[in-house]
Amino acid sequence: MRVLIVGGGAIGTSIAYHLAARGADVIVIEWSAVACAASGKSGGFLAMDWCDGSPLMHLTRRSFALHAELAEARIGEWGYRRMTTFSGVVGRASTSVSRAARPSWVSPDVSINGQLGSKGTTAQVQPAAFTTGMMRAAEARGAELRLGSVTGLLRRGGNVVGADLDGEALVGDAVVIAMGPWSMLAAQWLPLPPVFGLKGHSLLFDTGAGIPPEALFLEYEEEAGSILSPEIFPRADGTTYVCAISSGSPLPAEPGLVVPDEGAINRLRALCARVSPVLASSRVLASQACFRPVTQDGLPLIGPIARAPGAYVATGHGVWGILNAPATGEAVAELILGGTTGVVDLSDFDPARLGAVD
Ligand SMILES: Cc1cc2nc3c(=O)[nH]c(=O)nc-3n(C[C@H](O)[C@H](O)[C@H](O)COP(=O)(O)OP(=O)(O)OC[C@H]3O[C@@H](n4cnc5c(N)ncnc54)[C@H](O)[C@@H]3O)c2cc1C
Repeated sequence: MRVLIVGGGAIGTSIAYHLAARGADVIVIEWSAVACAASGKSGGFLAMDWCDGSPLMHLTRRSFALHAELAEARIGEWGYRRMTTFSGVVGRASTSVSRAARPSWVSPDVSINGQLGSKGTTAQVQPAAFTTGMMRAAEARGAELRLGSVTGLLRRGGNVVGADLDGEALVGDAVVIAMGPWSMLAAQWLPLPPVFGLKGHSLLFDTGAGIPPEALFLEYEEEAGSILSPEIFPRADGTTYVCAISSGSPLPAEPGLVVPDEGAINRLRALCARVSPVLASSRVLASQACFRPVTQDGLPLIGPIARAPGAYVATGHGVWGILNAPATGEAVAELILGGTTGVVDLSDFDPARLGAVD
């Protein structure tokens, strides 16, 4: 069976890996570069049980376990490691965890008020390395990467039988839309529910080996009065990632056109300088923005597309796309090759639940 996957983000490459590992003939089609969008610019934070009690619970728990298995199997290197995770408030006194547990690299201006996760329940990957690593692992199992733009789908008698790649007809038994927020464009080709892009900003610092694997989720009130929720993830490669400041800016036509909103990076730098003297004195390696794919009800769209046999969608993973990529890849591979899923039930993510745009 030949499967075309449109989109080389964490979701598309994870599907490619799981399909190729099961012997399918796979082609990933990517506009620009693998991991060029949110999958290369996100936090890469993983939590085992933060989706418990929601429809995402089984997908998330399976994915958290698969991340650990993938790292143990050493099929690639993407900085997987376990973390301790704290919450806190900047500039406001609050009940603190014990002095011994307090991260030593954080400014006294930050009150650490709780531990959100342990090395048993929270972890991280470097998301760009994870996404390119999944693609390489898929290629090592026979998958192919084609750079170019999919501009439409091939149809025969109502069935989807391939994709139009910059004017070339690429034939396939199944086509997977994994175009992140740009999946909204696929609504021109298929009866798909709406997908939106929500913008977030981030900084990457060169902090060296001085910060241990301690993640922070903070609350911070700016002078102008707005409340931000910065997330801070020191990484195994000696960098530290900080994200905050979401905005409703419109999604540009392609990933290369995504730039930070005016003023957002300066606001983020001011915040970092207050949170930690290490961040205040470290070189900034990247100032960036990206769009996470979201849906009307906050749950991903994963499954076949009604009224378009041969077409599948996997997008809308919101803030948990890196976490949920491995189990999404596994489930979509099972679905395409066997017609059903063995480990995670996808019925809560059926695209048909939201109605289609015809
Ligand atoms: C600031 C921020 C921080 C985040 N932090 C975390 C985190 O800590 N943990 C976590 O689990 N998740 C996190 N996320 C969410 C996560 O990044 C996303 O859910 C995930 O990256 C989405 O992956 P994707 O593959 O669906 O989409 P994308 O990464 O957007 O990939 C889609 C790809 O499709 C390609 N494409 C689109 N249209 C076409 C076309 N017509 N032809 C060919 N190619 C096409 C694009 O070029 C792109 O490479 C964060 C998101 C943001 C914005």
